[in-house]
Amino acid sequence: MKTGEVGPGLAGILSGSVTVSQRDGAGHVSVIVTHQPGAFMGDLAQLSDRPALVDVVADTDVEALIIPAERLRALLVGEAELGEKIMRALILRRVGLLETGAGGPVIIGREDHPDVMRLDAFLTRNGHPHTLLDPDADREAAALVARFQAPEDHTPIVLCPGGELLRNPGETKLAQCLGMVSAIDPKRTYDMAVVGAGPAGLAACVYAASEGLSVLALDCRAFGGQAGASARIENYLGFPTGISGMALMARASTQAQKFGAEMAIPDEAVSLAAGPDGALTIRLANDEAVHARTVVLSSGARYRRLGLPEMDEFEAASVHYWASPLEGRLCAGQEVALVGAGNSAGQATVFLASQAKKVWLIVRGDGLEATMSRYLIDRIANLPNVEVVARTEVTGLHGTDGRIEAISWRDRQGGAVTRRELQHLFLFIGADPNTDWLAGSGVKLDPKGFVLTGAEIAPGRRLFATSLDGVFAVGDVRCGSVKRVAAAVGEGSQVVSTIHQHLADGATPHT
Ligand SMILES: Cc1cc2nc3c(=O)[nH]c(=O)nc-3n(C[C@H](O)[C@H](O)[C@H](O)COP(=O)(O)OP(=O)(O)OC[C@H]3O[C@@H](n4cnc5c(N)ncnc54)[C@H](O)[C@@H]3O)c2cc1C
Repeated sequence: MKTGEVGPGLAGILSGSVTVSQRDGAGHVSVIVTHQPGAFMGDLAQLSDRPALVDVVADTDVEALIIPAERLRALLVGEAELGEKIMRALILRRVGLLETGAGGPVIIGREDHPDVMRLDAFLTRNGHPHTLLDPDADREAAALVARFQAPEDHTPIVLCPGGELLRNPGETKLAQCLGMVSAIDPKRTYDMAVVGAGPAGLAACVYAASEGLSVLALDCRAFGGQAGASARIENYLGFPTGISGMALMARASTQAQKFGAEMAIPDEAVSLAAGPDGALTIRLANDEAVHARTVVLSSGARYRRLGLPEMDEFEAASVHYWASPLEGRLCAGQEVALVGAGNSAGQATVFLASQAKKVWLIVRGDGLEATMSRYLIDRIANLPNVEVVARTEVTGLHGTDGRIEAISWRDRQGGAVTRRELQHLFLFIGADPNTDWLAGSGVKLDPKGFVLTGAEIAPGRRLFATSLDGVFAVGDVRCGSVKRVAAAVGEGSQVVSTIHQHLADGATPHT
């Protein structure tokens, strides 16, 4: 079996031996392990028939017990102790591949190039191994750029493990090349389709799939949503030392797949319609269609931008809405500006202060007290490299070639303008709901665009039920929801019982 091919399943070696090796897009091969009788071969790819991230060669005649994905999932659920051991091994093997970048594409381009950052973020947030090579720092990368005659506007170039070469691809094209997303069966009707694989959507997937419903989750970017971007979530029950959003969400995504939920990522929903018989159809940006008996809207929210005309010019390379280790690396040892006064701004400030030389925390109001949790305010007060600039707003971004070189801000009371040489601006100024795609669907929204549900539609209407029959809304996208990870997870878990009631009233689950 070669990297990029879909294997037959998890293989228990009964006799003979097989060698597993890793190969990157640049053709480097190294042996990971030789499996002998008694060992089993596979990683997380085997859980949901994804393309292999390793090459496998039989060294001798081999007798093996093949467990296809569906049987493997049944085994993991049915045999709790054995299942735990296998699951742990699958996860650790994937972590090993992520650490080395093995089995993934090689992205060749300058580390601070906006499109390198875009592709790096996309693969990182989807938990897909990859390697970055900067031609300014790596001779081999420079030789490859020369060999493929890549002019600046064709970089980065991406070498996929299957040998394909892509020039500055979009995320969807890259995902297709890596086999991350496969075609949706137009004849299939799922019991539940979930739009948005953030904490709310993933919780709905775990509970619905574990209770026997057929589930498909769509996300236009990556699993984990906003929570996946959080450097450290400290208020999620059961993690007293905190947990990175990416780690929490990767576990949730694996758990959903263990129970058989299918994931289509990246796939963007662009419309929703109900047929005369009540059947629901979601149209995707790539013209595919998903049919479902029920739909869970968990498309969350997107970050607000500053209303400055120069935002478009600098957004790709110098303006950030997340502060994960990725962004931390980018601004290590530099001064940065961060705008916002809520908890997400506070968390980002604390994290960036550990990486950056200085963080200028720009706040419109009088201070942080009214909007930020006490523990974060106290932590920020103890950070010598954070300066809170209150009653202030950003008035100008200055720079060239899409990169910020200086930022201006104005004191809202006195009017004094300050200009500082800074290359990175972080924005944590709230979010608007991702509901544009619901236009014309019949799903009622509040004046701010959040989805109305339950009693807001009509007295006695089911919890989380929208104005369109069979369509439910949970998490940040729902009007009146508490904008927290735990609340989103709670709503995603709860909605499944309402869906059972809905299915019991009408259609028979298709399982
Ligand atoms: C940086 C940051 C730090 C945070 N830290 C914390 C914290 O420490 N504790 C806490 O409790 N809360 C925290 N929050 C808030 C918390 O993350 C959110 O409340 C939570 O993620 C909401 O979950 P959700 O599933 O409703 O929506 P989201 O997390 O917003 O997920 C929605 C998903 O839907 C997808 N989507 C949108 N439109 C479409 C479409 N048309 N088609 C397909 N997919 C679509 C998006 O790509 C996204 O993945 C933080 C938020 C941020 C931004």
